[in-house]
Amino acid sequence: MSSHLLPTYARVDLAFERGEGAWLYTASGERYLDFTSGVAVNALGHAHPKLVAALTEQARKVWHVSNLYRVPGAERLAERLCAASFADFVFFCNSGTEAIEGAIKMARKYHAVSGRPERFHIITFEGAFHGRTLAALSATGNKKYLDGFGPPVEGFDQVPYNNLDAVKNAIGPATAAIMIEPVMGEGGVRVVPHGFLKALRELCDKHGLLLIFDEIQTGIGRTGEVFAYQISGVEPDIMTLAKALGGGFPIGAFLATAEAAKGMTAGTHGSTFGGNPLAVAVANAVLDEVTADGFLDKIRKNALLLKQRLAELKDRHSSVIAEVRSEGLLMGLRMVPPVGEMVDELRAEKLIAPAAGDNVVRLLPPLIIGEEEIAYAVNAIDRACTRLAQLHARPAKQEAAS
Ligand SMILES: *Cc1c(COP(=O)(O)O)cnc(C)c1O
Repeated sequence: MSSHLLPTYARVDLAFERGEGAWLYTASGERYLDFTSGVAVNALGHAHPKLVAALTEQARKVWHVSNLYRVPGAERLAERLCAASFADFVFFCNSGTEAIEGAIKMARKYHAVSGRPERFHIITFEGAFHGRTLAALSATGNKKYLDGFGPPVEGFDQVPYNNLDAVKNAIGPATAAIMIEPVMGEGGVRVVPHGFLKALRELCDKHGLLLIFDEIQTGIGRTGEVFAYQISGVEPDIMTLAKALGGGFPIGAFLATAEAAKGMTAGTHGSTFGGNPLAVAVANAVLDEVTADGFLDKIRKNALLLKQRLAELKDRHSSVIAEVRSEGLLMGLRMVPPVGEMVDELRAEKLIAPAAGDNVVRLLPPLIIGEEEIAYAVNAIDRACTRLAQLHARPAKQEAAS
């Protein structure tokens, strides 16, 4: 595989030519069930007729005008996102990490215009993932990703996850905000206990801090609600979105209450592409589907079905699957053998799924899956587990025999 693409990815030698619903096809016609969804992006699967129509219809009108002029589609999308959430204002950008940058800037600015410019630190959590720009990496705090890129951006304090005393101890006169994913996706589908989120809200209220939820992976239906925070009932002051928002067309956003947004006046932030007519046309169409009658109910029903089947598989293959984790259709299997082996075995079964931290393989089906896809996936996982169990049982048997 020789290529002029900068070799920053360990890519699988596999290319897809087209997709339809939850399925991807190679040029030679091989069919794969897509439980990656472009890493939780293609919420409505591939080539969804309504998204294709929204994109092509807009493509014939106007693609891009910049944010020097009004973009009616963006105004409509912002209005709908606010109606569906706690927020009063939305800023559109092009990716998750940009949404994080915006959220960080907004939290700092809020305190600056409140007469407390010394408050610029943000408390984040070990095992979190917030993106790859310098500030997002500094927020993430993963040493491996920061190595060799010079000093990290100042003002991020990582604390252990789910440890309230550590959060309390980290709060000081320079603290501006606390940022967390309601479900840590890249970190291994770790569902943050609702009690912990509630306690963070209370700490923020007590100390005058802003609470930021990173819903880049959890937002737009993935968990069975439009936003994951709605399950816990704990509302943030700022929230980031990206991934599923555009259903595969790049768009990100950060949302905030009017209070949290009060420092973000004309000229304080910007983006050339952010919220361009193509992106918002598709995102409006995604929102039409996700908020349509019964759509979320179907996600919850299918998620429960899949979760039950996965729990059965775990019981039968306890030497392979250590734990099933899930919130809606954001699912993970913590593996006993190295997760990479499971990813390879699943691919051999024509099911693609991404690895995450904590030795977890994530199952991120498009939200439109039905019983056929669930049955196919369960069979594929079952066979992959059987093979891994045999593979890892063999050396032990030989030892016993000798
Ligand atoms: C994917 C992700 C990001 C980064 O998004 P990009 O679009 O890759 O920049 C940030 N936070 C979370 C929770 C994510 O899942």
